[in-house]
Amino acid sequence: MKTLWSKKARALTPYVAGEQPKLDNIVKLNTNENAYPPSPKVFEAIHAVRALQKYPPPDADAFRAAAAEFCGVGERNVFCANGSDEALALCFQAFFDPDEPVACPEVTYSFYRVWAQLYDIPLYSVPLKADWTIDVQAMCGCRNAVFANPNAPTGCVMSLEEIEQIARSTPGVVIVDEAYIAFGGKTALPLLDRHENIVIVRTLSKSHALAGMRAGYVVAHEQLICALQTVKDSFNSYPIDSVAQAAAAAALADRAYYEKTAGKIVATRERTVRALTEMGAEVLPSGANFIFVRCADAKKTFLQLRERGIIVRYFDSVLTRDFLRVTIGTDEQMERFLAAFQEINGR
Ligand code: PMP
Repeated sequence: MKTLWSKKARALTPYVAGEQPKLDNIVKLNTNENAYPPSPKVFEAIHAVRALQKYPPPDADAFRAAAAEFCGVGERNVFCANGSDEALALCFQAFFDPDEPVACPEVTYSFYRVWAQLYDIPLYSVPLKADWTIDVQAMCGCRNAVFANPNAPTGCVMSLEEIEQIARSTPGVVIVDEAYIAFGGKTALPLLDRHENIVIVRTLSKSHALAGMRAGYVVAHEQLICALQTVKDSFNSYPIDSVAQAAAAAALADRAYYEKTAGKIVATRERTVRALTEMGAEVLPSGANFIFVRCADAKKTFLQLRERGIIVRYFDSVLTRDFLRVTIGTDEQMERFLAAFQEINGR
């Protein structure tokens, strides 16, 4: 049947998402979802949605206004999307070209590579430094750049000075993926006034516990937002359904709830890092809702955790195969993880 596929489809190697197991009573620490449910205001907003016979607002007006308010920018600086994966895919189409290389860390969110392949964009792969942080110097000088801050799956953060250095030495667009910015790191939002080529991509999947809803957004100069709207309206006029728009707006408006849950996750992360370090494990400094833990035998630990009903993420590639990426869950979930980790590693 593959003969009926387009040449493009035949050549693709798609992104592999972490599994979503159907089993009960597992501790799911593999896809960096929020440890807590969304704000109760989200459920009120969902129940209030009525006019489903109508198409949703094509530019997600209420969601867009709430994101603008949340970030302290104008509505014309915001573009909303069906998850930040969609936002990023549209950014690749709106800002990158096949003949111009895009600097990208060698170890980062692996979907960047997939979009590059899908849209024929050449990526210039930049090895990380020995301490697993992004090599800022080496990221400079390409036409465009894309990276995550905090980075994934390492959790390492970049300073605003470093981001500025990349923005200054990159003539094209610099995409800063802030999927995990709620849990550490400094947002690049204050740089937007000085650097019109910075494009910030955010998701509500992690910080606002809305992974099941699919909501993400972009903050950038209004001319760049126009490019995103042009590409979106050449693909799908209504990417975000009415329910998701209402949920996203309500989640962004409840800042107190967001701050409380993000704070709890950060506190749990710090406790978890301390406990692992006391066991003698090496954990990279993390500003995210996950940690990257070096193990003597990461694959074995991954499989044995799984047997005990604890699912973490293992990336079986040369650079990352000594590590496990562990999402920060609730305190109780992390207690179960730590007990199992200790048992497996005999410490
Ligand atoms: N960026 C990074 C760095 C991520 O880890 C993820 C989640 N896998 C995303 C973007 C996409 O998030 P979503 O599509 O759920 O908004």
